Amino acid sequence: MGGSKRIRKKSKAVKVFNLRKSLPERKNYIITLFFFGVILVMYMAIFPKHLFKAPACTVIEDSHGRMLSARIAADGQWRFPYNPIVPYKFEQCIVQFEDRQFYNHRGFNPFAFGRAVYQNICAKKIVSGGSTISMQVIRLSRKNKSRTVFQKLVEIFLATRMEVTYSKKKILAQYASNAPFGSNVVGLDAAAWRYYGVSPEKLSWAAMATLAVLPNSPSLIYPGKNQIILLKKRNRLLDRLRDKRIIDESTCSLSKAEPLPGKPFPLPDLAPHILIRAMNDGFNGKRIQTTIDADLQEKLNGIIEFNHKVLSANEIHNAAALIVEVKTGKVIAYTGNTDADGQNFHGNMVDCIDAPRSTGSILKPFLYASLLNEGLLLPQTLVPDIPTQIGGFTPQNSSLSFDGAVPAYMALARSLNVPAVRMLQNYGVDKFYDQLKKLGITTLNKPSSHYGLALITGGAEAKLWDIAGMYASMARTLNNYTAYNGKYNKSDIFPPHYIAETKVDKDHKNIVKHSVLDAAAIWFAFEAMVEVSRPEEEKQWQMFTSSRRIAWKTGTSNGNRDAWAVGLTPDYVVAVWAGNADGEGRPGLSGIGSAAPLLFDIFKILSPGRWFTQPYDDMEKVPVCRCSGYRVSMICDEADTVWIPKAGIKTEACPYHKIVHLDASGLWRVTGNCESVGKMIHKPWFVLPPVMEWYFKTKNPFYRVLPPYRKDCEPDVQEKSMDLIYPRHLSKIYIPVELDGKPGQAVFKAAHRDQDAVIYWHLDDKFIGTTSHFHELGIRAQEGIHVLTIIDQKGESVTCVFEIISRQNR
Ligand SMILES: [Zn+2]
Repeated sequence: MGGSKRIRKKSKAVKVFNLRKSLPERKNYIITLFFFGVILVMYMAIFPKHLFKAPACTVIEDSHGRMLSARIAADGQWRFPYNPIVPYKFEQCIVQFEDRQFYNHRGFNPFAFGRAVYQNICAKKIVSGGSTISMQVIRLSRKNKSRTVFQKLVEIFLATRMEVTYSKKKILAQYASNAPFGSNVVGLDAAAWRYYGVSPEKLSWAAMATLAVLPNSPSLIYPGKNQIILLKKRNRLLDRLRDKRIIDESTCSLSKAEPLPGKPFPLPDLAPHILIRAMNDGFNGKRIQTTIDADLQEKLNGIIEFNHKVLSANEIHNAAALIVEVKTGKVIAYTGNTDADGQNFHGNMVDCIDAPRSTGSILKPFLYASLLNEGLLLPQTLVPDIPTQIGGFTPQNSSLSFDGAVPAYMALARSLNVPAVRMLQNYGVDKFYDQLKKLGITTLNKPSSHYGLALITGGAEAKLWDIAGMYASMARTLNNYTAYNGKYNKSDIFPPHYIAETKVDKDHKNIVKHSVLDAAAIWFAFEAMVEVSRPEEEKQWQMFTSSRRIAWKTGTSNGNRDAWAVGLTPDYVVAVWAGNADGEGRPGLSGIGSAAPLLFDIFKILSPGRWFTQPYDDMEKVPVCRCSGYRVSMICDEADTVWIPKAGIKTEACPYHKIVHLDASGLWRVTGNCESVGKMIHKPWFVLPPVMEWYFKTKNPFYRVLPPYRKDCEPDVQEKSMDLIYPRHLSKIYIPVELDGKPGQAVFKAAHRDQDAVIYWHLDDKFIGTTSHFHELGIRAQEGIHVLTIIDQKGESVTCVFEIISRQNR
């Protein structure tokens, strides 16, 4: 019993003994493991996410990767953003010159390092660092660190660590992007542009060998004795490349004959304003691929410069233009101002594409299309062009004359202000304001009431950018009408863009029955804008005649401050502005004279294409009165069957044709009171209201005034044969005070259908004069409200109330 107990005791003791022996071993094992774990974590964590933090240049490239413009980095260095692509020639040169074992080591080359230490000891100074390219990348990233043994060890440590994360290719790219190349030039890209004026992939072997030598001793680039050393080093490297059979003998000798680079080249600056735009859009210090076509950009710059010379003779110093591709909305050329070599000369640094300027007439086609779109008008409908005063606003045509009535499409082509204001009143300022916003205008930052009817004659401001985008959206909508089977994609209306990566949200579920403007309305607006319909007063248009069909519109702001021209085809929209960036107006500055010539020059550099397909599905063929352009009434005697927008079906029928009763001779008008119905001739007659007729008949020889009533016939009392042209009912008139302090004279005007009529004028119930043939009368009246009554010899009368206001109340 006792023995077995002892044995049990003993075995327990053995167990305890064994445990005691293994515990420290395990502990050591865990501690070691933990220690290595910490080291590993530290080793992995110590490497920064971004090795280089220095600011970079902002660089913009065209759609094919060609550099357009660059701006120096915030720290005054020409340091391009990181470029992952290292040209083959540079790779070969730098590996042969700096680190021939680059592809064989893991960041540290002990043999090269040992050799360097030995050489330095022998020479008693530092002749070689023995650093690998990887170690140099680390040193570049830790700038301003002293060259101590400790720092060297840190470099070795980090270089080996970097090799874990980075590929050899990436390490080389980091080196190429961050190595110093003398002066304030950092990185291969900047060096290639500064010293050779080309992108790095275009450099020769000689140029690449020169650049590969520089990071090791950047000061060699300075002219003087250094150049001899640089040349020797370069040629030694070329020899080595030949020895390694990287280049052949003839390449080597030809390369040696190449001279070293001279004075640094200025960097290309083809699109300085879009570069600034990109910087403002948050791309500062980045390399951005744009939608610009460099060739087109160069040509556009040339056109702006050529025309600038002409414009500057009249002290017009600034001009801008952009070209938008309709299909994609891409901006393919963008010249924000005239060139001033980076000097802010006459405000040339201002990007006039992005500056809000007074619109002049450039918005009129949007109104015309909006009216057609809602069936408030047909293209040929006559709109009144007569003296007009609405709520104190008195629009004037640029010719300062009136046509009485003008077909709507012609009023647009001739850019007449009076019909435009009347059309806007008809359409509604609020509604038009909304239309403009839907189409993409971004500068209407005040309520619609602030602009009022002046919205259509230049009372608002717009950016050339927005205008180009709005016309491009219209053209795109029309282009895609067939593709969407007579429907519309809401996402066809979008602003232009210049960043290559921009994704245009093309939502195919966004198909709707109607767009902001439907296809037919857009078609007719563009048709009115084509050159064939240009009027006499814009004779200059004829010099732009070309075989190509272009819809175009010009605009001139008040005080001749802004000249606009926009032109479009199914493929391109070109928008031009000319003027002075500081807002100074110039006599003679006009859309047609100052901006249109540029527009047509620009179209010459664009490939000609087709014209829009007529959107028949959004149209109807209907008979339209030949005289009035309205839909035919029962009375209209002459009609043309034409295409009109579908919405136009609901427009009213011709209001101007009426049946006139003549006697048998056809020379006199008669009524049922003086002639038996059997002897009458009933004839349809085109009769405009008196004031419209007054102006219309002088410009339109076909217009036949109504025959007079036969002597024995009393006129129809319902019929108006007389009206006031000036003043209009409820208008406000300003009459200047003359030198002697008395009120000045205003000339009042009336129109009468009957050439022989006599008009008796009464002011505030007092008779003041008689007129015949030309019904004009000078009137003096005190400030305040007055009543004017005119009566003709047959007793027809017109009364109007008007107010004379003083200068203070004006
Ligand atoms: Zn008619």
